[in-house]
Amino acid sequence: MSANRFSNCPQCEKRFHKEQAALRDRINSSYGKVSQYEYEKLQSHRMVGYKKNDNLREDWEIIVEDELIIRYEAFCEACGLKIDFTGRQPIATN
Ligand SMILES: [Zn+2]
Repeated sequence: MSANRFSNCPQCEKRFHKEQAALRDRINSSYGKVSQYEYEKLQSHRMVGYKKNDNLREDWEIIVEDELIIRYEAFCEACGLKIDFTGRQPIATN
């Protein structure tokens, strides 16, 4: 693999939204049932919006020989997402 870059991890982003939705539900159901300190502590974990990360390391290579071969791998150390793809396409030559 030759080229590489780091980009936003889609699984980290999905988990963030899921966790924030669960936290929002927990805050709503806690109102009036827990101490003000506990309620404010829960609220302090809320985040306004998702910040794109650079957790996903992507590596790929493109080979043109008798066929076109595209290899792509990606891995996120934060959540463990792993993508491994190889595509092959015959090249029509005369
Ligand atoms: Zn991730």
